[in-house]
Amino acid sequence: SDRQSRYKRILLKLSGEALMGDDSFGIDPKVLNRMALEIGQLVGIGVQVGMVIGGGNLFRGAALSAAGMDRVTGDHMGMLATVMNALAMRDALERNNINTRVMSAIPMSGVVDHYDRRNAMRYLNQGDVVIFSAGTGNPFFTTDSAACLRGIEVEVDVVLKATKVDGVYTADPMKDPSARRYLHLSYDECLEKQLGVMDLTAICLTRDHDMPVRVFNMNRPGALVNLVVGGKEGTLIDN
Ligand code: UDP
Repeated sequence: SDRQSRYKRILLKLSGEALMGDDSFGIDPKVLNRMALEIGQLVGIGVQVGMVIGGGNLFRGAALSAAGMDRVTGDHMGMLATVMNALAMRDALERNNINTRVMSAIPMSGVVDHYDRRNAMRYLNQGDVVIFSAGTGNPFFTTDSAACLRGIEVEVDVVLKATKVDGVYTADPMKDPSARRYLHLSYDECLEKQLGVMDLTAICLTRDHDMPVRVFNMNRPGALVNLVVGGKEGTLIDN
């Protein structure tokens, strides 16, 4: 391919909801396969791909807690949900001949590898996709924070946060037709304007470690590859 990536190594964050497609729960195999193909294109042009997938299509601790469950138990269920999503994504990637490793922050011998930073970096260097599952391993955190944490740890060039819209807007573009997209935001603007891009923990972590974040639309076919080869996709958040 004549297309060159501007990034050597990325961390792609997908929400669990992104895997649902038009359903309201679970995983849509067609959506998984389309994403696997797009990720395969990145691997094909030599990009090292780390991934974090959320669990919101299955369980969220906050929602379970609102329904009466102990919050920490709910968060454990949410983290286990991310492992299921990671297994489904590995399956889709490997059916498309893309070597994939799943690591979990919670040891799960015989199912997936336990997270180990040096092993993860070795796998990334050899071109395997590495999916970091079970979030940070701790309750009260989110997979956005896990994505930023792992991205900083394994020294990616950018965290790419996939959403349902084309980036960060002045208001919800699904509700307000006059909403405009920001092309660029500083970390502090994200915090001050309370734009809800990611939780504050995640934004503070990226700010403190100068990790750029790009918010883009994964539902638009080709957007991921386009942004990696230099297209002006989404909203860039940095200093
Ligand atoms: N979770 C957690 N610690 C983490 C990451 C996730 O306890 O480090 C739990 C939390 O309950 C969360 C659920 O896992 O609601 C699923 O993650 P998240 O809500 O971030 O998924 P997404 O919204 O991206 O689908």
